Amino acid sequence: MHRPPLSLFTALAVAALCASTAAADQDSVYRLFIGDHADGMVRAIDLADGSEIASFAIDQTPALTRSTSGRTIFAVQGDAGKIAVIDTGIAFEDHGDHRDLIVSDARLLNNEITGTRPAHVVEGSGRIAVFDDGTGDVTLFGESDLLGDNFAPTTLSPGAAHHGLAAPMGDYLVISVPDADPEQPRLGLRVIGIDGSDAGDIMPCPGVHGQAQSARVFAFGCRDGVVLATPGEGGNPPALTHLPTGELGEGHVSTLKGGTSLQFFLGNFGADAMVIIEPDSDDPFRRVDLPTRRVDFVLDPVRAQNAYILTEDGQLHLLNILTGQITQSLQATGPYSMDGHWRDPRPRLAVAGDHIAITDPATGTIRLIATDTMTEAREFAVEGTPYTIVAVGGSGAVH
Ligand code: ZN
Ligand code: ZN
Repeated sequence: MHRPPLSLFTALAVAALCASTAAADQDSVYRLFIGDHADGMVRAIDLADGSEIASFAIDQTPALTRSTSGRTIFAVQGDAGKIAVIDTGIAFEDHGDHRDLIVSDARLLNNEITGTRPAHVVEGSGRIAVFDDGTGDVTLFGESDLLGDNFAPTTLSPGAAHHGLAAPMGDYLVISVPDADPEQPRLGLRVIGIDGSDAGDIMPCPGVHGQAQSARVFAFGCRDGVVLATPGEGGNPPALTHLPTGELGEGHVSTLKGGTSLQFFLGNFGADAMVIIEPDSDDPFRRVDLPTRRVDFVLDPVRAQNAYILTEDGQLHLLNILTGQITQSLQATGPYSMDGHWRDPRPRLAVAGDHIAITDPATGTIRLIATDTMTEAREFAVEGTPYTIVAVGGSGAVH
């Protein structure tokens, strides 16, 4: 009897497993979650056919943020003193050589985050931190706690009320520091322990606003530059570094997005320019001027060198992060002037797989732009006045 040696036998068994994996159906699902401008309503849309699969009545028009995993969405309603949380119904399970896609109904969770005026939601190191502008308190929890039955977040009270933020980094938080006079701009940032202990001095970052993470580094916008927070070695607190933007001319960074597979940040720089920030470069800033004022911008998590910027003339621009050049533009919507109130209904962007999804409140539609050709693929109507938007989804095995 011929018997293969054990190691070869094992190899064959693994090969057989892989074959069964390859034979498993691959499926791809994307969902859009759209906040209404007029009503307290979030609508869940199946990207495949534009159909509404669920709608969730909440208290007011929400700002929407998604978790890193895409499992949950935060509908921030500052004036109502709460954040509603939606389970997107899309989860991925890591199976080593592949991942499974698990799809269920989207649902509004019973667990919600309450406070006086909760605003910025920041995720890092497996923790989510919500800053309450009305109290200065920070609420900390994990996504799985939120999805479970015994939600018991931790609350820290590191300082006075202000429009602030807290960024979780390992066992530390980088938090904004207000001026003693609430009429004055925020002073800067400091590091505290997640147990509330003091861990460092104030790093000046006047008027600090906006944050993003890329490859474990956080960046924060200041009136005079950008502060980078780099994780400390061996359990040490993160190190804060201030990079001045003075040489870039008029403007400052107050909104940031962080690259996923490339380490960079893209920030606004005044109303009609952007800045690409590369933390490890000797020359960390590249300014990109836009033809008109910016309405919204987003990064592409798959095509890592792509950023998309919508300007008030209704043009959608493809910015190549590597070259710093706008390489393509198309007329995506009608014009939306940036004059008027900042909360007037204007388009917002999200990337869902191979498409950029744009809310077009004036026409009550969602426009889908193909990212490979930068042409409109299709559009569909949604009820109400579509405004804020996030996308979740991806592909995985379905056994
Ligand atoms: Zn599997
Ligand atoms: Zn803010």
